[in-house]
Amino acid sequence: MSGSVPIDRSTTWQYEDGEPGAFSYTRFSSPTVAAAEHALGELDGGEALLFASGAAASTAVVLALLSPGQTVALAEGAYYGTGVLLGELERWGVRQVEFDQTGPPPPDADLVWIEAPSNPFLTMPDFEAARAHPAPVVCDSTAATPLHVKPLERGCQIALHSATKGLAGHDDALVGALVTSDPETAARLREFRSRTGPVAAPDVAWLLLRGLQTLEVRVARQTETANSIADRLRDHPAVETVRHPGFGALLSFDVADAGTARRVETSTRLIANKTSLGGVTSRIEARSRWEGDRVPAGLLRLSVGLEDPEDLWDDLSQALTP
Ligand SMILES: *Cc1c(COP(=O)(O)O)cnc(C)c1O
Repeated sequence: MSGSVPIDRSTTWQYEDGEPGAFSYTRFSSPTVAAAEHALGELDGGEALLFASGAAASTAVVLALLSPGQTVALAEGAYYGTGVLLGELERWGVRQVEFDQTGPPPPDADLVWIEAPSNPFLTMPDFEAARAHPAPVVCDSTAATPLHVKPLERGCQIALHSATKGLAGHDDALVGALVTSDPETAARLREFRSRTGPVAAPDVAWLLLRGLQTLEVRVARQTETANSIADRLRDHPAVETVRHPGFGALLSFDVADAGTARRVETSTRLIANKTSLGGVTSRIEARSRWEGDRVPAGLLRLSVGLEDPEDLWDDLSQALTP
């Protein structure tokens, strides 16, 4: 499929008999973006729209669907940047409250925002409780990918992805996506994106298509490796809490304190000390550098790549040994 999709970098296309055809101006859509949207839409079971980043997709949800004075109920322990983003939008009258996503959302919320699994706490939402709420539900399923969680099938209105992570999968494309099976919501989000301009670029859409071709084998391998690493971390004397939902590349675990976390993250050799997740190479970082005391000082977030699991474990265990 995607290997044969060319990158079309045109910004304009000739009208057909004096009328705009399927593609007219690239801010509305373009062939390569539409091809990637089609592929992702198939995976999640809805209509996909690509954005310039996951954060741009999140911003579009809030600005397109809410009005000043309305409230977003955001899952506690969800991606740190989402709370920061909602804080930025508070000046425009959008309020946020946090709730424990393993139970029901607060009754007065106008939009429910869950994360499956949350990053970096790796909790799973109660989908039944979320779907019973009258407000629309957005589910950020970045860390799961559609191979493990399909939010639309679980009753959510919108699936949100930072496709920068596992979907594109190679640390070379910044791209976000919203997927919905509700035609009105899709039309509104498309209208908002066309008017305000945060659409993904064709080159990035092509990189996403390329990544999707290997998604299944990458995620299967990462799940297997992450499960085996999580099991071994649970038995390690220097490790306190291990968080992993049993699928996906992402896990987190706690060591004694900030100093120990710094030592571990700077002592790995195969595993890079850097941010992000879902890439083909492994990386580790102490999340307190970004999230402050919202996370335990000793919390390390690890995203496993495609390296040999034994080599990864050897690297981690030497880094955990004082
Ligand atoms: C990275 C990330 C985002 C933000 O996506 P960007 O592509 O960096 O803008 C949103 N949600 C989760 C869970 C993420 O990991």
